[in-house]
Amino acid sequence: MTVPPPVLTATNIRKSFGDREVLAGISLEAREGEVISILGGSGSGKSTFLRCLNLLEVPDEGQIAIGDVQAPLARNRHGRLEVSDSRAAARLRTQTAMVFQGFNLWPHLTVLQNVMEAPLRVHRRDREEVLATARSLLERVGMASFHAAYPKRLSGGQQQRVAIARALATNPKLVLFDEPTSALDPERVREVLALMRSLAEEGRTMIVVTHEMAFARDVSSRVVHLMNGRVESSGPPAHMFGADASPAFRAFLSPAAL
Ligand code: ADP
Ligand code: MG
Repeated sequence: MTVPPPVLTATNIRKSFGDREVLAGISLEAREGEVISILGGSGSGKSTFLRCLNLLEVPDEGQIAIGDVQAPLARNRHGRLEVSDSRAAARLRTQTAMVFQGFNLWPHLTVLQNVMEAPLRVHRRDREEVLATARSLLERVGMASFHAAYPKRLSGGQQQRVAIARALATNPKLVLFDEPTSALDPERVREVLALMRSLAEEGRTMIVVTHEMAFARDVSSRVVHLMNGRVESSGPPAHMFGADASPAFRAFLSPAAL
């Protein structure tokens, strides 16, 4: 069997805020169709890492490539890494999409407009085509009948399903999820996780920061444990949730059992 090509290659990503080192050199590769769950305690750098991957945050060190396109990062005359070509950075950003804990839908746009916005304005795709894709994605996430509603009329779970449809609307190579179910009540958590599972099954490449252990165990191809800004351990779920997992990861999973 041939190995699928890498969608994301992040190498030695470092980031400090002031003198606090949040990412101490993280490398991660995601191949096409992989679902990588990132687990770790609060403050371990999970969100910062995701934000570096789509250049919402500029890392202090390291390299990022989406497919075979390198992120345009270069040192300025002070030796600091910075985005050296903002257009190339914007193009690269269009290859990924992010789903946030707080949904972050545009409040002044309807459900349908939220899903159509990026493909229309950023990707400048044909309006009829964008509309057809948006309608079918809303159907897919079970939100078609809410197309004319504004986000504030929707429950958290409904908003998150729209946010996922919006993320898919540009057909990104990689979808980043930052604790997508953490703000939801249990019933809603289930419907969003079921949707994410179906995306995984259709071969979407996804990186998911989550506290949902059953999702990490049953859906991901690989689990990565972040601790103190480093990859403490990683591996297939069968290993990470088995008896041979690292002591630090087992302590993270069940602190009370120690
Ligand atoms: P996690 O998502 O794992 O909870 P974060 O990546 O959000 O962790 O944050 C890691 C650390 O970096 C935290 O101590 C946080 O306070 C700090 N941090 C994150 N973003 C910033 C920022 N923009 N400025 C200063 N400190 C930040
Ligand atoms: Mg976070």
